Amino acid sequence: MANSTYKSLPIFKIAIAVPLNRLFDYLAPENVTHIPVGSRVLVPFGKSKKVGFVIAQSTRSEIKIERLKTIIEILDKCSLLSAKDFQLLQWASDYYHYPIGEVISAAFPVSLRKGKAAILPQEKHYILSAKGECIKPEQLLKTPKQKIIFEHFLSLGKSLSSARLTKLDKNWRPAVKALMKKGLISTQSNLKTTNNINLQTESALAANKPQQHAINQLSGKLKAFSVTLLEGVTGSGKTEVYMQVIEKVLDDGLQVIVLLPEITLTPQLESRFRKRFSVAISVSHSKLTERQRHSAWLEIQQGHSAILLGTRSAMFTPLQKPGLIILDEEHDSSFKQQEGFRFSARDLAIVRAKLLNIPVVLGSATPSLESLHNVNKKRFQLLQLPERAGIAIEPEFLLFDVRNKILQDGLSEPLLTLIKKTLDKKEQVLLFLNRRGFAPVQICHSCSWVARCHRCDTSLVIHYAEKVLRCHHCGHQQSLLQQCPACKSGELQALGLGTERVEKALQTLFPQQKIIRLDRDSTQRKGTLENHLEQINQGNVDIILGTQMLAKGHHFPNVTLVAILDVDSGLFSIDFHATEKLAQLIIQVAGRAGRAEKSGRVVLQTRQPNHPLLSILLKDGYNAFAKTVLAERQQAMLPPFSFQALLRVYARSPDEPQIFLNVVTGLIQNLNHQQTRILGPVSAPMAKRAGYYHFQLLLQNTQRQSLHVLLTLLIPQLYTLKESKKVRWSLDVDPVDLY
Ligand code: ADP
Ligand code: ZN
Ligand code: ZN
Repeated sequence: MANSTYKSLPIFKIAIAVPLNRLFDYLAPENVTHIPVGSRVLVPFGKSKKVGFVIAQSTRSEIKIERLKTIIEILDKCSLLSAKDFQLLQWASDYYHYPIGEVISAAFPVSLRKGKAAILPQEKHYILSAKGECIKPEQLLKTPKQKIIFEHFLSLGKSLSSARLTKLDKNWRPAVKALMKKGLISTQSNLKTTNNINLQTESALAANKPQQHAINQLSGKLKAFSVTLLEGVTGSGKTEVYMQVIEKVLDDGLQVIVLLPEITLTPQLESRFRKRFSVAISVSHSKLTERQRHSAWLEIQQGHSAILLGTRSAMFTPLQKPGLIILDEEHDSSFKQQEGFRFSARDLAIVRAKLLNIPVVLGSATPSLESLHNVNKKRFQLLQLPERAGIAIEPEFLLFDVRNKILQDGLSEPLLTLIKKTLDKKEQVLLFLNRRGFAPVQICHSCSWVARCHRCDTSLVIHYAEKVLRCHHCGHQQSLLQQCPACKSGELQALGLGTERVEKALQTLFPQQKIIRLDRDSTQRKGTLENHLEQINQGNVDIILGTQMLAKGHHFPNVTLVAILDVDSGLFSIDFHATEKLAQLIIQVAGRAGRAEKSGRVVLQTRQPNHPLLSILLKDGYNAFAKTVLAERQQAMLPPFSFQALLRVYARSPDEPQIFLNVVTGLIQNLNHQQTRILGPVSAPMAKRAGYYHFQLLLQNTQRQSLHVLLTLLIPQLYTLKESKKVRWSLDVDPVDLY
């Protein structure tokens, strides 16, 4: 019954962040005929209201026009995203087979997703008036307080915010009020940004030869798309190269995004950047407040800032004048989002740079095998910084065979000797163990009963300090047991090693030394990590013990002995990514040693001293290792020689996921004309987690295109399967772990 008057009514296709991969049609509010694509609108959705994004304007709808609802409010006058931004998000939605509304929403900070106005906060500034400019402070001799405040204006600049004034003098208001009354000071509103621009910058270092080569190469191709892998060990001066190239981009008036894997790394880089550049720099990561992220996003989007430093989600921030994207530590798996919209910030950065026709630089001491493969395929250019900049010396690797050796809480005799020697020289020791808690297992010495999590397929980890047993997968915790609940008589023992246990042992062995443990448990309180790092850098700490947290980026110049207490777990994982990650970890942890003029030693304790990959890594280096593993992957047709997508499913009962995956397998067999291998369904490596049963199906194809043709046909069907109602499922394209 759509008559001609209705036909002329514009219909707006709106993306909404809901788990349905489709757009929703709405009518414009009365008297509105046009809404810019890319702006946000508030719409009725079910019983609630939601913020949506206008994707297109049309005259047609599959839904009868009388049933269409009307947009409640238009939130933006102009689009917040450029056409290229949209293209990228559409590409990402297609590639990851993830609902477009959710993908677009991921590009915005939470504040804007909730519908907050896209404006930067304003701040009242006090300025010298024309009259104020003409008088001398001596004319205020009778009012000394006013004279002091007035002098601040003369010496610090003619515009001061209330915050700045408060820092200068808590009690500034009466004096400023009096000065305003005299007509010497007036007010104005300025944008309140998160920036303090540093006007006195340090100059660039004199680049060494390989650095200069890299800088020249990169500077020569700033005007078009290219991908460059900058490979250099920790301390080889990659950051210096980034900074000198960024300088050139800034000179052209363009903006730069620098992505880092970890929040803890941003303060270090931020302070180096602020010392070097006299431009506004915005920072964005998940530990900032909603308001700070709102400002950072808009500062970049509106062009008030020239540099954005951030973690993976910052990759989507719209740029006014795109110039360059840099990803530091490109091998790091935290560039891949592991839940919801499982995108790879590295891969999307490359797609984005291609759309924007700008260069991308990927930096790492231990490049991912995928990037090295792309270098081999001539898709990426490789630039290497082979030496450590300055005067630091390469560390020496030592493999300690601990088979049949007595270990003292995980520490072998020769390692203890080395620790003593190092401490005697007043140098620092760093011990790495990737397991928190005291011990991973509590076992009964008489009946072998083990304390297990009732919600997960795993044992409970002993945390002695807190007197609890805790599950590291679901967070369940209970008090530490004194007696075996099974046989009621046996003695309960701690089996295995955690950082807490090693810390205790070290405290007994080295009672005079200052020991710091850095892991998620010991750094929970805000500021603790920063405080610990500060203590270490000031040389107040003798032994540093920690997990993963230690492997990334931190500079410990006085550390000359690094030991990885257990490398074996990485050698026997069922996940083919594990050896690559282990090698990267070893090299990264080793990179913490001997950064200054002192040479470092790196000890690996292992029961596999003859493991071929370990030997190649230590004898011939990371690149030789990478070459061997790439050859193995090619043999086995594993990524990057094939492409994978992992369908994960879970439910309360173990049956539903299997039923669902069996139906999916049937669908794939009907659709599959492109030789996609179907591996599974199988239960996940840890089947039961937090009370849910996890199963998975791995799809693999040597042709990326064929895999995606299949997924494009398959995934929409999953939303409507009746078996999908009883499970939760997710698709992970290019998974970085198969867990
Ligand atoms: P990376 O990012 O590869 O770890 P950095 O750029 O942080 O390396 O450099 C490591 C250290 O060497 C820093 O202290 C840096 O100031 C110094 N450095 C870098 N390049 C030079 C150079 N050309 N001359 C002297 N020192 C340098
Ligand atoms: Zn028992
Ligand atoms: Zn659990």
